[in-house]
Parts: sequence; structure tokens; C-alpha cells
Amino acid sequence: MTVRVRFAPSPTGKLHVGNVRTALMNWLFAKKEGGTFILRIDDTDLERSTNAYEDGIREDLTWLGFEWQETFNQSHRFPEYEAAAKKLKAEGFLYPCYETSEELDRQRKLQRVQGKPPVYNRGALELTDADIAKLEAEGRKPHWRFKLSGNPVTWTDIVRGEQTIDTSSISDPVLIRADGSFLYTLPSVVDDIEAKITHVIRGEDHVTNSGAQIEIFKSLSDHLPSFAHTPLLVGKDGKGLSKRLGSLSMGELREQYIEPLAICSLLGKIGTSDPIEARPSLDVLVEEFSFEKIGRAPARFDEDELLLINGRLLHETPFEDVEERLEALGVAGGSALWFAIRGNVEKLSDAVLWSTTLFAPMPGRIEEEDKEFCAQAAGLLPETVDQGSWGPWLSAVKAETGRKGKGLFMPLRRALTGQDHGPEMEPLLALMGAEKARLRLEGKIG
Ligand code: GLU
Repeated sequence: MTVRVRFAPSPTGKLHVGNVRTALMNWLFAKKEGGTFILRIDDTDLERSTNAYEDGIREDLTWLGFEWQETFNQSHRFPEYEAAAKKLKAEGFLYPCYETSEELDRQRKLQRVQGKPPVYNRGALELTDADIAKLEAEGRKPHWRFKLSGNPVTWTDIVRGEQTIDTSSISDPVLIRADGSFLYTLPSVVDDIEAKITHVIRGEDHVTNSGAQIEIFKSLSDHLPSFAHTPLLVGKDGKGLSKRLGSLSMGELREQYIEPLAICSLLGKIGTSDPIEARPSLDVLVEEFSFEKIGRAPARFDEDELLLINGRLLHETPFEDVEERLEALGVAGGSALWFAIRGNVEKLSDAVLWSTTLFAPMPGRIEEEDKEFCAQAAGLLPETVDQGSWGPWLSAVKAETGRKGKGLFMPLRRALTGQDHGPEMEPLLALMGAEKARLRLEGKIG
């Protein structure tokens, strides 16, 4: 069996971390199994779907590195859905209902008062042909519900194990709205059958839906995929994702200079038995992927962890991999600067600070009591500096001034960089050059 999976976003918004985790799980599994990853655009809702969102989804998935082998839009497949609906109607699985949403609301309220679950009462099944003719004459248009069996549906979920949904406890799902438009439920099944999807991998908010969809699968064909429902994402406090995090889009993360691999490392590991850490490549994540490692508890998404992983990745990133982006950021100093500072950045954009610090004109930052000391140090600077200059110069300054430890080191760092902390001074001095260093040590603009 060749694995075929699909990621099926609706282009009614931007991709956020929750969707991306589902995409990642599908992609990792497909890659691991040598299977096919299909991007299905669930755009049956023509009013809310936009081309801009669709383009954004494709752009984000490409940025993340999830290439797809096949893609299609549901909006191009209405005739197939119509054909499936016709078959279901002919076989009595799909029945017309005429209740307005106010009538349904009233029904549910009554059920609540009576202590009954708010399950659709199947009133429409009692309608006679005459009733229907009357309703139609009033101008009412039917919506169409799928008639569930009322029996338990069971399956072995790859993540959750044995699952049972008692279909008598859920309402017959509406598959077609009164305006003739399709809800997601039927098109998804039709496509999963036709695309020969072997595994439906999605969030556990779809578990109940799977109970109903399995019955729809069985009413349409012999094909039934396996299901894997992954636990939902929550915030670090264990509560639901905050509104801000929940809607955190890939575009925003990209603008904040978060690396796609940091996002994949975190989303690929939270909620699993593996340690949460930066992974060097998507290939490594593929190698390490297994559904068996995914626990039942919600996966905690912590932004601080994302930043930490982002930094860890950058600390190991070779210059070639960031060269173009550094150039776009206007970061000078080439590979020498990158190797000097990469251990100190959390995000790529932090490189701008160090590039500016080293190359833009600025006065040295010198405390009153260090003025004399810094002037002496300036006098001891060699004519030109390179990587090897820092050590001998520091020794010379120590010998001349008698200062040591922090008292020796800190005023020099401050004068040269304006900061109390930062990368090793040895390469920084070499990068800024003797002239600039001298001026700053003298308290001048250098
Ligand atoms: N468009 C659906 C959603 O985003 C797809 C669910 C599924 O994977 O079947 O919820």
C-alpha cells in the first residue's frame, strides 16, 4: 500500500500554528513512508474563501518546506459532489429537511429543558409528500441531512486507539445547505475516496465528525482510510491556545524572523515522547517521526521555547544558508561577522544590531573613571588589527595599567561596542578595525 495523505485547509484565513502542526504530521508521515502528500484546498464555501488566502497557504507551506506532489481545489469538483449526493438521495441516505434555524433553535432549547441531548429529532422523516408539497409551495427550500445508522461506529485510531462514536448521540449531519451549497463533510469524503487517501490525519476536534464520516464513506464505497486524530495544541499553561497564539500566522512568524525549521522542530516534538529541541533538518524530523511517540495529552505550545529553538538553530547555521537574508537585512561583515555573532543571536534580525554596532559611526561608551584607562588602551593598539590582535593587546593593557578581570575587560567591551554583553571580543575587534577602535576608546565617534 502506498501511503496517500492530504492536508486540507480552508482558504478562509491564514495558516496558524494549529493548522501547521496538522500539515507537518501529514507531511512527515508521507515522507517517512515514501508516500504522497496532497494539498487539498477546501474552498466549497465560495463566499468566505479567497484567492489571497489560498496563495498565502501555498506560500507558507513552501516556506516551511512541505512540498506537495498533488493538489486540487474542491471548488472545481462540484459535479462529483452532486453525483455523490444524487446517489445518497436515491438510496435514502440523504433526506430533505425544512426547519428554519429558528425552529431548530427552539427545538434544542426544548430538549435542554427536558434534559435531553440536543440531537436533531428527525422530524423531517415524518413528512408526507403532501407536507413537503405544502412547504415547497410556501417557498421553503430543503437542506439535506445524512441519515446516520443510530449504531455505534468503531475504528482503531492510530493515535487514540479504539474509538467508538455512538451515532444515536449525534445529529444527522447537514450535508447540503438550503441554498444548494455543500458543507465540508460530504466533499471531504468524496475526495478522500477518489484520491485514494490511505490515512486521514487531523486534529482531535474531528473525532465525532469521523464517526459520521465513516458512515458516509461506507454508504458511498468500499474505501475507508485509517484515521489518526492528534491532540490539540494548548498554551504553555495547559489552557487553550491564547487568542493571540491561536491566530499566530506563519506570515507573522516569518516577519518576526522565526526560522521555519524552528517552527517544525517545536510543532514536531511537543506532545511526543521525544525531547523538545532544535532539529538540524526536516529530514531528521522525518527519520524520527512515529505516531507511536504521540501521546494523548494536549501538546503545549510555548513561544519562549520557540525562540530558544530558533536561537539554537542559528548558532549552528552556516553562512551560506543565511547569506542572502543577511544581505537583504543590510548586514555588513560577511561570513566573518556571522561566525563572530551567530552564537549570540536569537533571531536573524539580531545580526542588524551587531552589524550596526561594529560598522556604523558611534561614540565609545566610557564611564568617567575609565577615561584614562581607555585612553591608555587606545595608545597600545597596534597600527592594524586582525583575529590574533586581541590577546596580545589585552596583555599589554593589563601590564601597563595593572587592571585585571572585569575591571580590565568590561570598560574595553563597553567602549568598543556600547554594550555590557555580546560575542567574543577577539573577532569583533578584528572586524571593526584599529581606526574605529582607537576613536571609540578615546571617546570619539568611530
Ligand atoms: N477543511 C477541514 C478543516 O480545516 C479539513 C478537515 C480534514 O482534515 O478533514 O477543518
